[in-house]
Amino acid sequence: MNREKLTPMMQQYLDVKDENPDAILFFRLGDFYEMFFDDALLASRELEITLTKRDAGLEEKAPMCGVPYHVASGYISKLINKGYKVAICDQMEDPKFAKGIVKREVTQIITPGTFTDTEYLKSDLNNYLLSIFIHGYSLNLTYSDYSTGEIYFTEKTFLSKSELYNFLQDEIDRISPNEILLNDEVTSKFKEKIKRDNIFLNPYLSDNLREINLFKDLGEYFSKNFKENLKNFLLSNNISDYTSLKKILQYLVVTQKINLKHINNIKLYNNFDYLILDESSKRTLEVVKGLNTFSKKGSLLDVLDKCSTSMGSRKLKKWVESPLVNLNKIYERQNLIEAFTKDLLLQDKLEKILKEVYDIERLVVKISNGSVNPREVYSLKNTIVNSKKIKEILEIYKNDYLNSLAREFIDLSDIYEKIDALLIENPPVVIEENRIIKEGYSEDLDELFKIATEGKNWLLDFENKERERTGIKKLKIKHNKILGYFIEVTKSFLDEVPDDYIRKQTLVGSERFFSVELKDMEGKLLGSKERALTLQAEIYNGLKDYIAVEIYRIQILADKLSNLDSILSLAKVSNLNNYVRPDFNQEGFIEIKNGRHPIVETYMKDEFFVPNDTFIDTDKHMIHIITGPNMAGKSTYMRQVALITIMAHIGSFVPCDSANISLVDRIFTRIGASDNLSKGQSTFMVEMQEVADIIDNATAKSLLILDEVGRGTSTFDGLAIANAIIEYIAENIKAKTLFATHYHELVHLEEKYDSVENLTIAVDRQDDEIIFFRKIIKGFTNNSYGIDVAKLAGIDDTIINRAKEVLYVIEKENEDISIDLNKEYIREENHNPEIMNFIDKLKEINILEISPMEAFNLLNEIVNKSKELQ
Ligand code: ADP
Ligand code: MG
Repeated sequence: MNREKLTPMMQQYLDVKDENPDAILFFRLGDFYEMFFDDALLASRELEITLTKRDAGLEEKAPMCGVPYHVASGYISKLINKGYKVAICDQMEDPKFAKGIVKREVTQIITPGTFTDTEYLKSDLNNYLLSIFIHGYSLNLTYSDYSTGEIYFTEKTFLSKSELYNFLQDEIDRISPNEILLNDEVTSKFKEKIKRDNIFLNPYLSDNLREINLFKDLGEYFSKNFKENLKNFLLSNNISDYTSLKKILQYLVVTQKINLKHINNIKLYNNFDYLILDESSKRTLEVVKGLNTFSKKGSLLDVLDKCSTSMGSRKLKKWVESPLVNLNKIYERQNLIEAFTKDLLLQDKLEKILKEVYDIERLVVKISNGSVNPREVYSLKNTIVNSKKIKEILEIYKNDYLNSLAREFIDLSDIYEKIDALLIENPPVVIEENRIIKEGYSEDLDELFKIATEGKNWLLDFENKERERTGIKKLKIKHNKILGYFIEVTKSFLDEVPDDYIRKQTLVGSERFFSVELKDMEGKLLGSKERALTLQAEIYNGLKDYIAVEIYRIQILADKLSNLDSILSLAKVSNLNNYVRPDFNQEGFIEIKNGRHPIVETYMKDEFFVPNDTFIDTDKHMIHIITGPNMAGKSTYMRQVALITIMAHIGSFVPCDSANISLVDRIFTRIGASDNLSKGQSTFMVEMQEVADIIDNATAKSLLILDEVGRGTSTFDGLAIANAIIEYIAENIKAKTLFATHYHELVHLEEKYDSVENLTIAVDRQDDEIIFFRKIIKGFTNNSYGIDVAKLAGIDDTIINRAKEVLYVIEKENEDISIDLNKEYIREENHNPEIMNFIDKLKEINILEISPMEAFNLLNEIVNKSKELQ
């Protein structure tokens, strides 16, 4: 493209575009944001808006499309949700007064990880931006929700490369950021992997992230408070490198182009502080997303979230995704939950107040950038009042835990009073010409508004007076933007117009005049109104500045409110679903009496959920091999144990009659490939990769849930692998393990290892129908009941009967080659030597050769034998 030929405006456009090559540029032209060239092609397609052309000075016209500025936010959010960045280029001067081309500048770059539009953000989800810095065998991570000002940092040193990338993957799965900043040392293989999840990647090397000095170059953007915190944070935590933190702050400054007063506090976290749930475990246990719904519905979080505020829902999600491993912290939550479960009225009372609480956590970004509107400030005031009510209720309650919770609610009366003194009740969202400042707050303002109102009355009087004086009944005083105030007289009365009226405008049916008296008043009126609005804006800005200084305290209150809301939600669910408070032990066992699956039980309507006991330890009951037919309830049982363990670590109460849990460091859940079809990863390879990950990472303090592992390949090698894995766990990892399998051949391992125990789920056959008892018992089953389940599923009898014939033959044949290592357990039913002899005898008979009498005798013998055997 020959740039010299371009029109000056197009040159300006391209200069701005050059600075923001990776963003779609919204270029303000009058009442529209326009896009040109490739951006226009892309945006018109993604937003389904018409593509037009504009003369750019070149031979060919430039592709163009645009959206009206006042509805731009909807289009922007659409692009952000599709994973694009949008740079907003505004007019920096009024085009009316511009000399030459209007000055334009990029005022904000909106990116997937910095998007804050509360109208389009999901209220119960955080929107995270993650920054990754890998250096040799160390890494540090920082992630932040710009809308709330949260910042979290962690550092790891001396990791092996595989540990490093495993950790990184786990963190990305846990945080699920919408955008990532990363340095060049991150391998391209890993980058490719994240890109597949549609996360926007920004290399540290990009122009936006050039080297800076956080304290010097960016210092002016942050509050003093934050700079102090940051220095203390770096010193007191012995942090050796914090590049990821620098880059994230820099990126926020560069994209938002405003100061960041709401970023106040950095939290150091360590993954040792949490029970680690990798992506696969989180998914199969349906911790925050249902397997079938791909949304919150059907998940543990869905069961537990009865929060009254979005702040609470976001907090609870963090708790559920990062269960605790510190007993004292767990007890803290338990104590509060217990107090609340004992008083439903108290729950109710607090809930009602919380429902009136505003999302002040997400308000802070607006307070910080000055865009907070009067309605929102008013909501802040009400939230302070409501928090005070909550504090008072908790203070006087006869319970030490609730009393200390009350003390955490800090006092924001000063902010309340400041707002209350000047802001009217129920103010409008937009100020424009509305009055939002209380009468009595400012004498000057009252006076100016008084003149404006009095002016209105004067005009009415003036109209009456002039009608009487001139005798023109239809004389009217009107106002428009161009003429100001004027007197309107219809054509038929023109003769009666007095001499002192001065003609201003002639219309088809009427004439417009003004008089000296009217002109004088107009001057006073417009002047006072303008001054009133300016003064009002000044007062309101003063209020905003005042609040902006107090953001830190507002954030503390938001944190306490969301904690309370989450605790209340857990208490409410405990009451609702009959949960109990779990105990904890140091001996490493998990004992559950009458445990239930927290999600499945809530979806049972006509049937009852059958509760089951669990005892699993690090000694004689370490590895449980669970056999039983399809549909018996193996998977449900194992997940229930994992979920109850997770809930206990969250600090929640749990679905059972009693539970005694020991802390675990990780929970691994693996589902055999063919059970995992829904994710489209049905390959045996994935199954084995996941197992490899367990072997690498599991410790004696982990809980392993292995469901039909070894299933994705042929029977014999699947069995061989499953067998070898259990042996490895028993001999090397020594982790508490539940292993469901259809390979009943594996039950022999109980003999080989003290730590292995066989469990099965009771079923019975009655009248050729299979009955599921859903009860877990000691022992094993050597029958898969596959054909019974098929029959239950409604498969035609012809097929069922034929399958039985085929099965018989196969089982018979396999007996001889059956696996050597478990001879004494296999096919117990048919092991009865008497039956075997009898069957062998039958096989020798040649039907064509025997006489009818011999056949009759044989049949008789069969009947008797079978009676005898029953
Ligand atoms: P398996 O893994 O043995 O094939 P599942 O655990 O998938 O069996 O359970 C099959 C079905 O049985 C589930 O859909 C569930 O609704 C029901 N189920 C499982 N356990 C119970 C229980 N304890 N009480 C009632 N229903 C149950
Ligand atoms: Mg199963």
